[in-house]
Amino acid sequence: MSSEVIYRKYRPQTFKDVVGQRPINITLQNEIISGQLVHAYLFVGPRGTGKTTLARLFTRSLNCLARQKNQAEPCNQCQTCLAILENRSTDVIEIDAASNTGVDNVRENIISNAQIYPFNRDGYKVFIIDEVHMLSKSAFNALLKTLEEPPQKVIFILATTEIHKVPETIISRCQRFDFKKIPQKEIIKKLTEIIEWENIKVPDSILAEIARKADGSLRDAESLLGQIISLGSDKIDEDLASLVLSRSHWHEIDNLIEALRLGNLGAALNQINQLVGEGLDVTTFILDLVEYLRQIMLYQIIGPGFTLDFADDLVAAIKKHAEDFPLADLSALIAIILDKNNIKDSLIDQLPLELACVDYLLAKQKNESTVYENLSSPAKNATQSEIKKNRVIPGDCYQTLKSSWPALIEKTKVLNHSIAIVLKSSHPLSVVDGVLSIGLEFDFYLQQLNKPEVKNHLVALIEELLGEKYKISFIIDENFAANHKSFKGHGEKEVDAVLDTFGGDVL
Ligand SMILES: [Zn+2]
Repeated sequence: MSSEVIYRKYRPQTFKDVVGQRPINITLQNEIISGQLVHAYLFVGPRGTGKTTLARLFTRSLNCLARQKNQAEPCNQCQTCLAILENRSTDVIEIDAASNTGVDNVRENIISNAQIYPFNRDGYKVFIIDEVHMLSKSAFNALLKTLEEPPQKVIFILATTEIHKVPETIISRCQRFDFKKIPQKEIIKKLTEIIEWENIKVPDSILAEIARKADGSLRDAESLLGQIISLGSDKIDEDLASLVLSRSHWHEIDNLIEALRLGNLGAALNQINQLVGEGLDVTTFILDLVEYLRQIMLYQIIGPGFTLDFADDLVAAIKKHAEDFPLADLSALIAIILDKNNIKDSLIDQLPLELACVDYLLAKQKNESTVYENLSSPAKNATQSEIKKNRVIPGDCYQTLKSSWPALIEKTKVLNHSIAIVLKSSHPLSVVDGVLSIGLEFDFYLQQLNKPEVKNHLVALIEELLGEKYKISFIIDENFAANHKSFKGHGEKEVDAVLDTFGGDVL
């Protein structure tokens, strides 16, 4: 079955079956029941949100020969209902303004036709003009004249996705209804009904994925589902659905976010480049990444009342992130990704995303290193619990490193005296995911310490000291002076005073 068929087959035939747009639905029904109609309606809103569906329903209801008193539902069985449903009623004229933009078309199709009384004497002649904003200026002027002096028994329903292109003179002549994007929950409900009717098994996670991709357009959602159904299997799985939906990378996105949360830049960049090597569509990936972060943020703020439409393992992952990821970091990360994504004409597709990861972690390190200053003087602004929460090196580990750093440096002299001198201008920055980051001031130092024999020796010394093996990562600390001072014993006023006097530093 083609997607177009699904869309037509399940187009609502009654007001009660319409998905979403409840206030508009009820208002239109009330107008029909009370007979308080206007000559022109304006339906405004995104594509696929039910504008044409409600226009047609409204039209049938107005013309139905068997509609019950005090009810708006059309019977869908009488002569006129059938004629309208089968597109052969002369009283309902649907015009796509996109392909009939000129004034001649408007004169011919609308103005002269409107003078002819409806075939159904008790009913109305209804003009549904879709994408009305596409009309030319002169066409709008011609239409305006008709709207100003509308013939008897004629109703116009103008629909548009771009209201800003419709002249104010037209808008002011109409009763305006603003259609909203249809919530994912309602789209999923409708898709579930369709697969039950079609007797096809589709996992909830795939329905949720369709709803997400449809972005509030039921027509797009039905079209995507139709394409999946037309693959011809009565049991749809992720692999099959990926032929239509283009594979989402939620698990890889989850890994990336975890790496960023843990400050593991290498893992983050590696993940991105691995996917790019596999032919990743970077634009879609970034959209999904931002959406995933948004879900974490909303869940963190709103709590269990916020529904997460993902597969179970991802729901668990999102909840975990919501617990672990500080809100400020989350919002900063989203902002940085959006900001970098504005870079026009990036030579390398993934570069803006890579820069976003780097900038985010640099900003985070900067924030964290200012915490060091508070560590040795907790009486400053931060409370004890805040310090504990923000400390990037676990307390015991930090103290051990701090007290043993000079001895540890001594032990590197067996390798090379200059290494010991370089290390005196270093300090541990963080322990994250089994990696001890050590901050340095100069790039030149970094090159010396990154030699394998030096690194291996240090790994062994740290293991001896802490009783656990850590990888070591040397980084240039942007906030070197302040961090180094606090690691060496900032807050010990006497020492500072002496040092200031002699213009020296603690080594
Ligand atoms: Zn009828």
